[in-house]
Amino acid sequence: MSDKKRVLITGGAGFLGSHLCDRFLAEGYHVIAMDNLITGDLANIEHLFGNEHFEFHHADVSKFVFVPGKLDYILHFASPASPIDYLKIPIQTLKVGSLGTHNLLGLARVKGARMLIASTSEVYGDPEIHPQVEEYFGNVNPVGPRGCYDEAKRFQEAITMAYHNHHGLETRIVRIFNTYGPRMRLNDGRVLPAFLSQALRGENLTVFGDGSQTRSFCYVDDLVEGIYRLLLSDYALPVNIGNPDEISIKDFGEEIARLMNVEFQPTYQELPQNDPMKRKPDITKAREILGWEPKVDRAEGLRRTLEYFKEHVSEVMAGKVD
Ligand code: NAD
Ligand code: UDP
Repeated sequence: MSDKKRVLITGGAGFLGSHLCDRFLAEGYHVIAMDNLITGDLANIEHLFGNEHFEFHHADVSKFVFVPGKLDYILHFASPASPIDYLKIPIQTLKVGSLGTHNLLGLARVKGARMLIASTSEVYGDPEIHPQVEEYFGNVNPVGPRGCYDEAKRFQEAITMAYHNHHGLETRIVRIFNTYGPRMRLNDGRVLPAFLSQALRGENLTVFGDGSQTRSFCYVDDLVEGIYRLLLSDYALPVNIGNPDEISIKDFGEEIARLMNVEFQPTYQELPQNDPMKRKPDITKAREILGWEPKVDRAEGLRRTLEYFKEHVSEVMAGKVD
C-alpha cells in the first residue's frame, strides 16, 4: 500500500462529492468514493476510472460501512440535497443523515480518521436573523415537508459534536449555502438548473411565490476550496461556507434570461411550504479562521455552468428525467 493519505468521500458520485474527488486526487491523496447512486451519476466520476489512486465502492452508507486499510479522512457528503429529491425519498434522507452518519463516525473512530460532515444552511430553517451567523439556532419546522432534510442535518451535527466531545474524535462541520456549477443534475428541480434548462428550451421560467425570496449562490470551486481548508484546520465548531452576494429569485431569473439572450417570461407558481424567505451567509468565521472568501462572481460562475448545460443540451431538450 502506498504512503499517500487516504480519504473516503461518501456521495462521491454526486455533484459536490465528485468535485471533491477531483480536488483530493489533485492534492495527491488516494480517494475512495462511496455512493449508492440514488441521486448521483457515475458519469460524474467516469473520468477517474483507471486512475490507480481512485476507487469506487457501490454501497448504501445507511446500512453498513466497510473500508479495508487505513483511512486518514472521511468526508460525509452522501444525502439527497435538492428539495424534490428529499421530498421523494424522505426516509432515506433521514436515514443517511442519522444512521449513515453514525456508521461513518464509528468507522472514523476505528480508523483514527478525521471526519468532516456536509451540513447546510437549512439548519437555520426560515431564518429570523439576517445574514445567518453560526451561533443562530435556527427556525425549523420539524413536521413540515422540509423537516426530513433539516432535522436529519441537525441530528447529524449533534451526533458529530457528541463524538467529538465524548470520544475526542477529530471532527469538522461545514454549513454549505446554495452551491452551483457543472455536474448539477439538469433536472434536479433546484432553481438554477430549472431556470437554465427552461431558458435553453425556450420555456417560461417557473418562479415560486412572487420571487422576492432571496438566496446567495456560491460557485462550486470556491466551496471546495473552503472545505479543503476547513478539513485541514483545527476548528471543530460549524463554519458557514457560501457566497454572501444575495439576490432575489425574480432578479435571478432576469439575470439568467439576460445571460441567455431571451426575454424574461416568468410563470408564477405557489411558494412551497416553509420555503425560506431570506438566505445569506455571514462568512466572518471562514474569513478569520480559514483565510477563505469566494473568488468567482455570479457572472463568471454562471458562464461556466451554462457551458456544461450546453454540452448536455440534447438531454436538456428532451426534458430528460433519469
Ligand atoms: P447530490 O444529490 O448530487 O449528491 C449526493 C450523493 O449522495 C449522490 O451521489 C447520492 O447517490 C449519494 N447518496 C445519497 N444517499 C446515499 C446513501 N445512503 N449511501 C450512499 N450514497 C448516498 O447532492 P449534492 O448537491 O452534491 O450534495 C452533497 C452534500 O452536500 C449533501 O450532504 C447535501 O446535503 C450537502 N449540501 C449541498 C448543498 C448544495 O447547494 N449543493 C447545500 C447544502 C448542503
Ligand atoms: N424556485 C423557483 N423556481 C424553481 C425552483 C425553485 O422559484 O423552478 C425557488 C424556491 O422556491 C426557492 C429558491 O428558488 O425559494 C431556491 O430553491 P432551490 O430548490 O434551488 O433551493 P433551496 O430552497 O433549497 O435553497
